[in-house]
Amino acid sequence: MNSVEIVSAGTRRGLMFVLSSPSGAGKTTLSRSLMEGDNQIALSISATTRPRRPSEAEGVHYHFVSERDFLRMRDDGDLMEWAEVHGNYYGTPRQPVEDSLAAGQDVLFDIDWQGTQQLRDKMPEDLVGIFILPPSAAELLNRLRRRAEDGSKEIARRLSNAREEIRHWVEYDHVLVNRDFEGTLSVLRSILTAERTRRRRHDAALTQFTKDLVADLEDQIAVALADS
Ligand code: 5GP
Repeated sequence: MNSVEIVSAGTRRGLMFVLSSPSGAGKTTLSRSLMEGDNQIALSISATTRPRRPSEAEGVHYHFVSERDFLRMRDDGDLMEWAEVHGNYYGTPRQPVEDSLAAGQDVLFDIDWQGTQQLRDKMPEDLVGIFILPPSAAELLNRLRRRAEDGSKEIARRLSNAREEIRHWVEYDHVLVNRDFEGTLSVLRSILTAERTRRRRHDAALTQFTKDLVADLEDQIAVALADS
């Protein structure tokens, strides 16, 4: 699915597909579903100092690290971006992302607006930013409660942080209101397909392809003339 390439696979640099939203808008479920059945995109696994939730696994949802290790990674330049969110540190390990992009693999990021700003400053050509909004504040609270993994204090903290996060919608390329999961997922897939076929990502391959096409046209013109 979604393996649309203009010329042929492996001839473009990977793109950075960034999803941001207030906590509870459905972004994590959407990003996991987007990855299923699409072997051209890899999820960037962040490092965090947040305690692991019961449903989470080390190396799958996050790399759970101590504050000391996180700060060392940051100071050694091993993080592409980092931020403090809800009182914990979160950051993107640099090497896996750079390796994927260079190999033509797309990378999906589930990060906040602060991280998105840092990535956009560094790699504006590679980044596609998507902002997901909840349909209403009441629905946001419902979803946080349904998840039932955070206490009521933590839920209140996340709701109050949502105010700040939502203000940054204008910094994104696409903004989606997540009314129904399937609909939003389908739009996300379409955006990904469209971004993959964006001309500037294919300039090198297209230069050669069109050159060959024009050269072959000379032969076809000769064939057409011979038939006339
Ligand atoms: P949670 O604790 O719910 O997993 O994540 C809290 C927030 O931190 C979410 O908005 C999530 O997108 C963001 N986040 C997760 N990983 C990173 C990261 O590596 N960098 C930044 N800047 N934000 C992150």
